[in-house]
Amino acid sequence: MLKENYLEVRKNIDEACKRAGRNPEEVTLISVGKTKPAEMLQEVYDAGSRDFGENKVQELCDKIEILPRDINWHMIGHLQRNKVKYIVGKVALIHSVDSLRLAEEIEVQSAKKGVDEVPILIEVNAANEISKFGVKPEDVKQLVTEIAELKHVRVKGLMTVAPYVDDPEENRPIFHKMKDLAVDIAGENIDNVSMDILSMGMTNDYIIAVEEGATLVRVGTAIFGARNYATT
Ligand SMILES: *Cc1c(COP(=O)(O)O)cnc(C)c1O
Repeated sequence: MLKENYLEVRKNIDEACKRAGRNPEEVTLISVGKTKPAEMLQEVYDAGSRDFGENKVQELCDKIEILPRDINWHMIGHLQRNKVKYIVGKVALIHSVDSLRLAEEIEVQSAKKGVDEVPILIEVNAANEISKFGVKPEDVKQLVTEIAELKHVRVKGLMTVAPYVDDPEENRPIFHKMKDLAVDIAGENIDNVSMDILSMGMTNDYIIAVEEGATLVRVGTAIFGARNYATT
């Protein structure tokens, strides 16, 4: 069941790549197992997934302990500064950096733990809605320039959470704008900064996101089924 779901999503990604003239190997599927038990994640691992995303530090750390060692873990949720110490050195990528203060805390903790490089993405509030998290598109370049001064923190690209919409086509301009922004910043050739990664697209809109240039898609519901927050 979960295996079929996972393979189906992967197939949809591959087909979207073909439509867009992209190489499917450019796109990594992150299985988002938040609120779901480790056994379910193990099933998706057995189906071939090696990238998993979580949005809560405690749950992430618990699952890292239980699940196979060769998983690339992605911190995709809002990160508080006082929790940075628990994940530095353990995760492959932090997707949700949206302030210099947070990046500075990552710097402090990576120095402390002797972690050479901590790859991060800048979370962009690309829809310009009154969303709680993310940097305004016009402020991204400035923030990237400041973070580039930090020794251990490595900006690898951009991430966004698009709004939930009935017709995912509505999010296409947002994804397109993200790609443009990444190309724009890449063109600045800032030392230690790359814009190779574009993390965008969720269950509702990952196909559109891939067509518009996503290199990481974060898919939960389409693989694991609906989340039931009431019982967790
Ligand atoms: C939960 C979550 C996802 C996955 O959402 P689905 O709609 O279930 O695919 C992706 N990204 C972030 C940041 C999330 O919190």
